[in-house]
Amino acid sequence: MNKTAEKLKEYMKKFQQYQTIEALLSWDLSTMTPEKGIESKTDALGYFSTESFRLATSKEYGEILKELSAPEQFQQLDDAMKVTVRRELRDYERFVRVPEKFYTEYVTLKARSQKAWESAKKANDFSVFAPYLDKVISMTKQYVRYMEPDQKPYEVLLDLFEEGMNSAAIDRIFDELKVGLRPLLEKIKASRQPDLSALQGKYDIQAQKKVQDMLLSYIGFDFTQGATAESEHPFTTEIGSGDVRVTNHYKEDDPIAAMFSAIHEGGHAIFGQNIDPSYENTAVMQVNLMGLHESQSRFYENILGRNPNFWSPVYSKLGELLPNFKEIPFDTFCQAINYVQPSLIRVDADEVTYCLHIILRYEIERAIFNDEVTTEELPQLWNDKMEELLGIRPSSDAEGILQDMHWSDGSFGYFPSYLLGSVYDGMFLQQIEKELGSIDDLLAQGKVLEITKWLNTNIHQYGSLYTSREVIERLCGKELSAQPLLDYFNKKYNTIYSLDH
Ligand code: ZN
Repeated sequence: MNKTAEKLKEYMKKFQQYQTIEALLSWDLSTMTPEKGIESKTDALGYFSTESFRLATSKEYGEILKELSAPEQFQQLDDAMKVTVRRELRDYERFVRVPEKFYTEYVTLKARSQKAWESAKKANDFSVFAPYLDKVISMTKQYVRYMEPDQKPYEVLLDLFEEGMNSAAIDRIFDELKVGLRPLLEKIKASRQPDLSALQGKYDIQAQKKVQDMLLSYIGFDFTQGATAESEHPFTTEIGSGDVRVTNHYKEDDPIAAMFSAIHEGGHAIFGQNIDPSYENTAVMQVNLMGLHESQSRFYENILGRNPNFWSPVYSKLGELLPNFKEIPFDTFCQAINYVQPSLIRVDADEVTYCLHIILRYEIERAIFNDEVTTEELPQLWNDKMEELLGIRPSSDAEGILQDMHWSDGSFGYFPSYLLGSVYDGMFLQQIEKELGSIDDLLAQGKVLEITKWLNTNIHQYGSLYTSREVIERLCGKELSAQPLLDYFNKKYNTIYSLDH
């Protein structure tokens, strides 16, 4: 390795140190910081993130990256370093184009806007949030115009969360889904609805935690390089190498939500825990490809976790840990975890109607960034689209446009990655079945870990060395399509709801 490449490695190592501290502070703030300790932790977090931002936008760092990107030097780098130089230089150039004064103003606005969103949601009053949202929209447009002056703002945002993705590809995939889901949903709505009253009851929280640990082990979460805690919203975080943690949120009357959060976050964590450690101190260790990351969590949560065969080998164990389940027939449990019904709230939606919740948000974001809708018109547009796509209409903004926090902090372009993840899953499922045989059979035999091993070998170990599009091309040898996901839905729900009879 030449001297400049060595210098880059040193920088990457420094960034890693800052990230470790920042992640640790954020973890502590979300899981256990006492009220009076919040300010000092927040201050420290601000200090370290400013320092690392300075380092990442320093002149010296920019020169190192430019030197290494010159063809004769670039060719000598290994693949991980090539990805690192390319990605870091792109981010560097984007960052230095944003005026510092604007950036500070934008960060402050986003913090205020998040608070305004919280109050607006509580008060069920969009007008409290509207002026902030309006400003966040205009500043986000400006922010990405600074970063990429020659590109359309929404395309830049999509690329920020899922490198290589654009609206033309998403339009094609989402339209395929819209058309394909309609007949299935009509059939489900017309079929006999399951009786789920056997699930009502109180479920001990301590026992629910044991169920979480059992499920995490079952799918392959490694407790020697991971830990768990409680937080308001479940999340996964990597705290330096060899340490990927998950949180969960427990409700006494709904054990299923926590089980599926555990499996979802476990999927994110298994990805992080299995990246090849030789990529340490390169950009490959960080997977900012949100679609690819969601594809892993959603594969565990939906494709595996909602398959009745996933549960048959452990259902009696579930009854031992949480005795309520001894009284609940296995079939009723399977119907409960696959209950499909149009509903208002995205995070509570089933795996089928969930797709439409994302398509709604994507279409609204596209309208916002094409200047086709004003901020005041947004609640109405939301409700109209809800009616068009799901056949139901929110009776308040809290159940409508105010339900998600993403737009309050300028994360436009993030939503599509959830659904792209599921679309990738359809393709991965097809490929796994080609190589390992039927998923139903593997799960019935309790061989979840064989599936985890396949994901480790084919996806996880490479971190972000390949973009999602490249991963799919390498593994499946095909263009991205929503058809495999639709095939999976049709096959599964035809059986569960006996739709062909
Ligand atoms: Zn997730």
